[in-house]
Amino acid sequence: MFCPVSKKVSYENEELALEALIQHHIRNFHQQDRGPRNIYECQHCGSWHFTSKGARHPELESDEVKQRIKKEQLGEYWERKLR
Ligand SMILES: [Zn+2]
Repeated sequence: MFCPVSKKVSYENEELALEALIQHHIRNFHQQDRGPRNIYECQHCGSWHFTSKGARHPELESDEVKQRIKKEQLGEYWERKLR
């Protein structure tokens, strides 16, 4: 699903968008300051999108999520290497 106005991928709600944002960081090996950093509710379509502007989502700064990203990135790394 894409937004007709922003052409971005749409997520039904905040929770799904946040989970997708975390997954995005795991899969794309973003540096700390790169890639989409937050989510927002779209005024045009009413769903949620990523944004690379502004402050990072506080969840991305939490130790729990940071550790999860690190751990799952390591898993991704080996999976790719062994493929
Ligand atoms: Zn939209």
